Amino acid sequence: MANVLYDALFRPHEGSDATFLILPDGRTVSYGAFLKTAGRFAHALRASGVGVGDRVAVQVKKSPEALALYAACVAAGAIFLPLNTAYTAAEVEYFVTDAQARALVCDSGAASALKPVAEGAGARLLTLDADGSGTLSDLAAGQPGSFDAVERGPDDLAAFLYTSGTTGRSKGAMLTHDNLLSNAVSLVDYWRFTGEDVLLHALPIFHTHGLFVGTNIMLLVGGRMIFLPGPDVDALIAHLPQATAMMGVPTFYTRLLADPRLTKDLVAHMRVFISGSAPLLAETHVEFETRTGHRILERYGMTETNMNTSNPYEGERRAGTVGFPLPGVELRICDPETGSQVPQGEIGVIEVKGRNVFKGYWGMPEKTAAEFRADGFFITGDLARIDEDGYVHIVGRAKDLIISGGYNIYPKEVELALDEEEGVLESAVIGVPHPDFGEGVVGVVVPRAGARLDEERLRASLGGKLARFKQPKRIFVVDELPRNTMGKVQKNALRDRFKDIFKAA
Ligand code: ATP
Ligand code: MG
Repeated sequence: MANVLYDALFRPHEGSDATFLILPDGRTVSYGAFLKTAGRFAHALRASGVGVGDRVAVQVKKSPEALALYAACVAAGAIFLPLNTAYTAAEVEYFVTDAQARALVCDSGAASALKPVAEGAGARLLTLDADGSGTLSDLAAGQPGSFDAVERGPDDLAAFLYTSGTTGRSKGAMLTHDNLLSNAVSLVDYWRFTGEDVLLHALPIFHTHGLFVGTNIMLLVGGRMIFLPGPDVDALIAHLPQATAMMGVPTFYTRLLADPRLTKDLVAHMRVFISGSAPLLAETHVEFETRTGHRILERYGMTETNMNTSNPYEGERRAGTVGFPLPGVELRICDPETGSQVPQGEIGVIEVKGRNVFKGYWGMPEKTAAEFRADGFFITGDLARIDEDGYVHIVGRAKDLIISGGYNIYPKEVELALDEEEGVLESAVIGVPHPDFGEGVVGVVVPRAGARLDEERLRASLGGKLARFKQPKRIFVVDELPRNTMGKVQKNALRDRFKDIFKAA
């Protein structure tokens, strides 16, 4: 029976002795062994009452077994719903209830806290520990390693992936077999992945970046993954010599750059370094290239659409841009109000259409309808312009656009000006309520190690660089910017923190 994702990603590797995962301690897991575990889990899920189309919420530490659960869900026709391991029991409760999950799989250590959550939501609680033990494994123990994958067509759902919650409450993006497969096929081709590749995989597997971009690609080509629990810099440095490719969020690259062991020699053999999920500073690009000789390949995607654009594998990788639309992705820049395309070079909202674009937000038909145009384009909420050579430059999120005294201010422009200032490591620019201007521009800066920053000096210096309406009315110095697991700056948290500063004035 046909099962679109299973047939493309998993079935070809059944019984194979080839290595799939390389673990931090050097142990390896073959494709065949991985798929036997997945097969047993698929039987165990079925025995636990999970049927075709049921949601299986999973909040477990990264491990080969955790990944096998993804394969098991695909085989069983269940919908894989991975959750950020940092979520509290209250947050998990929201997702499990929202998604009406049939089962909740967690680490044994979290079982007592999540038992009432599962009970309240009518979900079966199962445990799976990073060492392979737990009640799910017990259930799977007596089961055969082969499972007859149930029939699933291209438009059937394979996963619910909740968005990162950077701009508000996370939304459950419904992703189909075809959404995931078409994107993996496209990326393998665009980035020239083959079965010879060894991917340094230090990303979480509850987010589109590590789960679909990284893992699906390697499954498709039959390559190997060095499967690290996280981006610990010692581990990255230790394993880079065995890898051919690395995917990371920008903080991976800044951490590596802060380490003197990152040298040309260490990474001379590497085929490609890829970055995404958050903007990579042009400065990081330049420093990385100077230090290693490698030009990082930056791409842009989102939970709802998988990957939309990428810098070219061959050809110029342009710093500060996310490259070109991937083959099969239609992309246009539109006026957020009228929906009509803006003239070439002007800023508007990115809209995309293609097989990569999700089915909609679970349980939010109105929100879904509002974010799609009549001709099928999805409104991403990201602002960008396209330069004369066709490269897409993201300038921020529509939700972060500041409107002060009737002027539109793109925070990124002000952030770039702040970042150039002596002693500034990084910055975030936000708009907060202002009695006269509607919103007032506020800069938040992090000093470089040992540097002292002075608000008056920074404001005076910006005065020479930016039009008056763009200049921050206040600049605050903080130790660090609030970031979520994927390294994204949480501007909501900053807006909340500084929301009253113009009120007293
Ligand atoms: P939420 O939708 O819940 O607010 P989120 O948008 O951060 O959270 P994700 O789907 O994980 O959730 O992130 C997608 C977003 O990340 C994109 O819409 C874009 O704003 C940003 N992004 C991804 N890659 C890049 C990149 N290379 N440069 C700039 N921004 C990027
Ligand atoms: Mg989003």
